[in-house]
Amino acid sequence: MHTFCMSDNKNKSHSLTDRYGRTVDYIRLSVTDRCDFRCVYCMGENMKFLPHEQVLTLEELEQVAAAFVGLGVRKIKLTGGEPLVRRDVIKLIQSLGQLDAELSITTNGSQLTEMAPALRQAGVNRLNISIDSLQESRFREMTRIGKLPKVLAGIDEAIVQGFDRIKLNAVIMKGRNDDEILDLVHFAREKGVDVSFIEEMPLGVISEHDRADVYCSSDEVKAVIESHYPLHATTEKTAGPSRYYRMSDCESRVGFISPHSHNFCSECNRVRVTVEGRLLLCLGNEHSVDLRETLRAFPNDQSRLQDVIVKAMDLKPEKHEFDLEDEPQIVRFMNMTGG
Ligand code: SAM
Ligand code: SF4
Repeated sequence: MHTFCMSDNKNKSHSLTDRYGRTVDYIRLSVTDRCDFRCVYCMGENMKFLPHEQVLTLEELEQVAAAFVGLGVRKIKLTGGEPLVRRDVIKLIQSLGQLDAELSITTNGSQLTEMAPALRQAGVNRLNISIDSLQESRFREMTRIGKLPKVLAGIDEAIVQGFDRIKLNAVIMKGRNDDEILDLVHFAREKGVDVSFIEEMPLGVISEHDRADVYCSSDEVKAVIESHYPLHATTEKTAGPSRYYRMSDCESRVGFISPHSHNFCSECNRVRVTVEGRLLLCLGNEHSVDLRETLRAFPNDQSRLQDVIVKAMDLKPEKHEFDLEDEPQIVRFMNMTGG
């Protein structure tokens, strides 16, 4: 794999700052739109995936990451789709592990029994593992395909590998898995990992359920947890939008990602790059710039790529608005966006 030469970098002095004074130091890089699950809130049942030529190559993904790190980005999260189903993803991770940035991955956990050791060795610091249910049949319903025992074994393997931090992510839907909130907290405590609860976002048009009907606010989830474990707000921040709480008797933290009820836009420090090389300035808006065009027209010209990225910061909108009652304004699915 071509290693992007940092001496190509003309050492752009700018860090990435948008019109609202927010510094962008975190990117979410989608490495594939494909996935071995079809979670009901994320995808339709029959998905069409991108043809290969539209997808950034591993070398192009590496160039994008290096360009951002040259501009002051210090956190890279690999996502998708399911990042671990991309062929040769370990090679990419090994090269990103050499960059001066914290590297994390968001995964559905299906490949971790085999891949967790290689991820750790390649320099992955943190893992986010999505798990919405601890009941086998329900897990299958919510993911349409996933096998819970395999994911549980993957979580155990990840714990053995000693990542700096492991966080479980659960999207809570009323009438589907809201009766498992405490079970998920117990599980996180038992395993000594963090857990975040996510409000479902209206990304992509789905027919499986009405998003307004299943909406469960973070405040409702928090109240359920507090009936058992008092939660103490912390000022601890990770790079992401979670608000964190601690319980008095354990190390596990409880986080809430609340795009509806606690808008986090004013603190937004991140941008996303889709696997087609579209730099998305906001999860809930369509403002974007095509990086693939530059990557392919001017191969290995990091300086030019960085100029495009710096200019794009002016497009970052102030905030998103999600409306559960109307048709989704954002028609791309979460697997395209890179959650
Ligand atoms: N496949 C990996 C996984 O599931 O962790 C990474 C990609 S997935 C798109 C990233 C995160 O987005 C997951 O935690 C998933 O639960 C969440 N997600 C997907 N669709 C969502 C939606 N409509 N609203 C809120 N979260 C969503
Ligand atoms: Fe796949 Fe993750 Fe979307 Fe589920 S949430 S369908 S695992 S990309």
